[in-house]
Amino acid sequence: MRIVDIIERKRAGEELSREEIEAVVMGFVRGEVPDYQVSAWLMAVCWRGMSERELFDLTGIMLGSGATLDLSGVPWFVVDKHSSGGVGDKTTLVVAPLVRACGVAVGKMSGRGLGFTGGTLDKLESIPGYRVDLSAAEFVRQLEREGIVLSGQTPELAPADGKLYALRDVTATVASLPLIASSIMSKKLAVGAHGLVLDVKVGSGAFMSRIEDAQELARLMVEIGSSAGRRVSALLTPMDQPLGRAVGNALEVAEAIETLKGNGPDDLMELSTMLAGEMLALAGRAESPEVGRDRATEALHSGEGLDWLRRLITAQGGDPKAVDDPGLMGTAPLVERVEAPRSGVVCRVDALGIARAALTLGAGRETKAGTIDPRVGVMLHAKVGTRVSKGDLLAEVHAHDAATERQAVAQVLRAYAIEDECAGRQGFTIERYATPQDS
Ligand code: URA
Repeated sequence: MRIVDIIERKRAGEELSREEIEAVVMGFVRGEVPDYQVSAWLMAVCWRGMSERELFDLTGIMLGSGATLDLSGVPWFVVDKHSSGGVGDKTTLVVAPLVRACGVAVGKMSGRGLGFTGGTLDKLESIPGYRVDLSAAEFVRQLEREGIVLSGQTPELAPADGKLYALRDVTATVASLPLIASSIMSKKLAVGAHGLVLDVKVGSGAFMSRIEDAQELARLMVEIGSSAGRRVSALLTPMDQPLGRAVGNALEVAEAIETLKGNGPDDLMELSTMLAGEMLALAGRAESPEVGRDRATEALHSGEGLDWLRRLITAQGGDPKAVDDPGLMGTAPLVERVEAPRSGVVCRVDALGIARAALTLGAGRETKAGTIDPRVGVMLHAKVGTRVSKGDLLAEVHAHDAATERQAVAQVLRAYAIEDECAGRQGFTIERYATPQDS
């Protein structure tokens, strides 16, 4: 089987056999197929797509390229959660403790942020001492003992994805539905949770800005998970403005803590309890996602969720005092006000624009090797729908130096649109996709 023939067949839009896909992917993993051929094949997949059979085969091959975790010693139903990435998305930090407080285990491997999306690992690393580098054995042990673990992806799970993703990142081949679906699902299946809730973001601050693409991605990932015997559901949720008020690592952890104390912003409280409700329903702990949501809300108001966050931090070597004193995560030396340039209604807070400001401040990384400052970021005080007068506080920029502060203030201002009225804007309806037994 010649790799060049396989590339040519995909370029012509033909369906590849499992053996052909395996020859490319596993040949690459073993170092036998050079990256220029794999790059050409990836580009052909981007243009020609894949049939569902090809997609299932690709996911299975990537999953089989490494180890899978054995969770048989975990005495609880284990659920995992995945967000396709958004600006200010700190829901995992709220949802995982809430779900655990309701008697369901949460085992999740997270990624770092790259480009405009913040990564859960970067946020967790704001907590002094918190270890995100658990080995696969440590991950399983903590899940067996505590029933909650949030750590980084281990290299032995789905290594084909790590290699392929690095190549996709530099060959403009990330934006392909089958490549994204197989990448996410091979890693999730390797962790081995019994249930998985996917939060597929749609909007200017998401991977998917078109609703049709997000719908297709959600459908494909639910099908992959279901056909592997997992219970999966996906929610399509809006990402046109940042989630909550905080964008930036320590600021986001502090906001997640406030949310677990019952004082979070409405949109974050709503999405977190909704996702937790989905997870509880998947685990059979609630008759429906709505009932699950009520249980999660109770765990939030009773303080049990916050207790589980402390327990998680302690189990992973972090300082649980950060929960009561978020200042332990550090504070930026400069805080500058961004004021409304006119009176009116806030009609847009562009998520991508705010993310760019956070990046300028040093809250994210532009390359994998980049470093981040956990203390910096943007706090939004006015979100879409807020009526403001000229000079009112729109946002605060938390910076480590005057130059980045000035630039970020200008970027935040550009992200805001204030008009007399927000006419003709449509709401967003959250859509749900699920394995048949759960719909
Ligand atoms: N996240 C992943 O893990 N993989 C992709 O391909 C895109 C987003």
